[in-house]
Amino acid sequence: MEKKQIDWSSIGFGYIPTEKRYVSNYKDGKWDDGCLTEDANIVLNECAGVLQYSQSVFEGMKAYTTEDGRIVVFRPDMNAKRFADSARRLEMPVFPEDRFVDAIAQVVKANAAYVPPYGSGASLYIRPYMFGSNPVIGVKPADEYQFRAFVTPVGPYFKGGAKPITIKVSDFDRAAPHGTGHIKAGLNYAMSLHAIVTAHEEGYAENMYLDAATRTKVEETGGANFIFVTKDGKVVTPKSNSILPSITRRSILYVAEHYLGLETEEREVYLDEVKDFAECGLCGTAAVISPVGKIVDHGKEICFPSGMDEMGPVIKKLYETLTGIQMGHIEAPEGWIQVVE
Ligand SMILES: *Cc1c(COP(=O)(O)O)cnc(C)c1O
Repeated sequence: MEKKQIDWSSIGFGYIPTEKRYVSNYKDGKWDDGCLTEDANIVLNECAGVLQYSQSVFEGMKAYTTEDGRIVVFRPDMNAKRFADSARRLEMPVFPEDRFVDAIAQVVKANAAYVPPYGSGASLYIRPYMFGSNPVIGVKPADEYQFRAFVTPVGPYFKGGAKPITIKVSDFDRAAPHGTGHIKAGLNYAMSLHAIVTAHEEGYAENMYLDAATRTKVEETGGANFIFVTKDGKVVTPKSNSILPSITRRSILYVAEHYLGLETEEREVYLDEVKDFAECGLCGTAAVISPVGKIVDHGKEICFPSGMDEMGPVIKKLYETLTGIQMGHIEAPEGWIQVVE
């Protein structure tokens, strides 16, 4: 297979159409067989459920080339399960988890020419999603749905090293208690756009959202979970029913415990205690871990001892171990790496 002529190191995180995408439709209470298509466009009725009442959920994952030349996907079964949980919360039919994993493998394989080579730092981003497709005007769930998965090559997240970022404590809320913060739905992002545009205008890279009920506890950013490291080397992550259960974060906790012998703790984290941590990072598929150097809370600066020049030592170790597992330098736990080709 001939790779596409793309300057892998210079592409960013933008949509580059590839040849094939996977589509399956749900109608009369069942999913059809699904297939790959070259058509990147979707024609919908003007009254489609997704357009009126935002009934849509998605996932985000990556395929990449390992050192020995295989194309692999990281823990797609976890995305399949989370996607099913998201669908159930929005009264959408579940796309069967085994079919989800198979669809991902099919679409990656069909676009193997777009999977960046080992060592480029780039990867193939995979975007599965589902939406209500038939006309809905009275408020209720749609009867028909479309599941799709497309891929797009994305460049290295950190160009020229992972520089710590500065974030702000947001005055906006991301998710309500008993709301939809724990599922991966576009609606959570729609409401965060004003907050992130505002933060960017003020010179911050991201927002730290607090719990909406008391505004005293750390939740997450718009698209990544927090991990903190205590001064004695324990890895702490916020526990809340309104944060999205990041697969990267859960994998990092496993790596911390089972590969690095670190203590881990998932618990409520108060904003007041953040100043006492030694390191802070944001976890998600896009960056794996982005180091946070500084958090600004209404003019009050919280500066981590790890500084603004490089990742803190524990976060660096976690980052290197997890990316080592993904790239095939370090043996992965059973079932973490799905070989596509
Ligand atoms: C997708 C997402 C994350 C990161 O999850 P991963 O599974 O690690 O990619 C974190 N927070 C939010 C709100 C998300 O949508």
